[in-house]
Amino acid sequence: MSVLYIVSTPIGNLEDITARAKRVLAEADVILAEDTRVTARLLSAFGIRTRLESCHEHNEADKSGEMIRRMSKETLSVALVTDAGTPGISDPGARIISAAWEAGIEVRSVPGPCALVSALSLSGFDEKEFTFHGFLPRRKGELIRKLKGMAGRTELAVFYESPHRVASLLSAINEVYPDAMLSVSRELTKLHEQTLRGTAGEVLARFASDEGLLRGEFCLVLRLAGISAQPERGQSAESLESRLVGLVLSGVSLRKASETLVEQGERKNLVYAAGLNVKRAAKLLNEERDG
Ligand code: SAM
Repeated sequence: MSVLYIVSTPIGNLEDITARAKRVLAEADVILAEDTRVTARLLSAFGIRTRLESCHEHNEADKSGEMIRRMSKETLSVALVTDAGTPGISDPGARIISAAWEAGIEVRSVPGPCALVSALSLSGFDEKEFTFHGFLPRRKGELIRKLKGMAGRTELAVFYESPHRVASLLSAINEVYPDAMLSVSRELTKLHEQTLRGTAGEVLARFASDEGLLRGEFCLVLRLAGISAQPERGQSAESLESRLVGLVLSGVSLRKASETLVEQGERKNLVYAAGLNVKRAAKLLNEERDG
């Protein structure tokens, strides 16, 4: 009977591979890898010569179908790995795993490194619950909305982030939750592993004083319990219409004013509707003036 093994691989430190992972990788008929070049380096470090086939975000649908057909016809031991950590966690894997279950193929876990688990345990925050959000939206408006949607949550929130966007994520958190505590871990298990704790503003200040701290892969743990979201600057109880009028009176076009509100995190369709109200009001005022 065929078996699909989900194998976790190191997130930096090669010594973190488990004895079982090495054995399963060495004994497998095929290793399905996110990037065969990355996994080839890992295998060569352990003298493993198992055949590699690629299974990544873009071919997972086709590859799953083909592999599951092969596994249904012959007895195959297949190991699924990604570039680092645990497959299926902000990484490809879910498709083939689900297809295997549906085809009645046995699926087994070979657990090991996973950045979110390391970052959570390093945080020292003692909440028992957490939500893993993976990567948050890149666009500022969506990011702010997503963060605001977490207001009132009592569990920890865990995020993944790349080095070139971590400062923007921290400044968005600083905007919405300036008092919330964070644990920011970078380069976990590597030579320059580091965990900074503090508010987003405090962590940003550390980054500003040492740009080297911005290098590497990041995992953030945000403690939201007892913290409420900060109203956005200038937003308070003021209506979108009055903010648009204020911006227009300051000399920008209605279009530019609308873009500014969207950049500040307001919903595009609501800003558009408010813009129509402003135009309608201007038209009525003109009609009144012209008698
Ligand atoms: N499947 C992986 C896992 O189990 O952690 C995660 C893959 S995801 C594509 C890559 C992201 O995980 C990085 O951008 C970073 O946010 C986080 N990550 C991976 N390795 C890390 C490390 N050594 N230190 C901190 N974060 C890491």
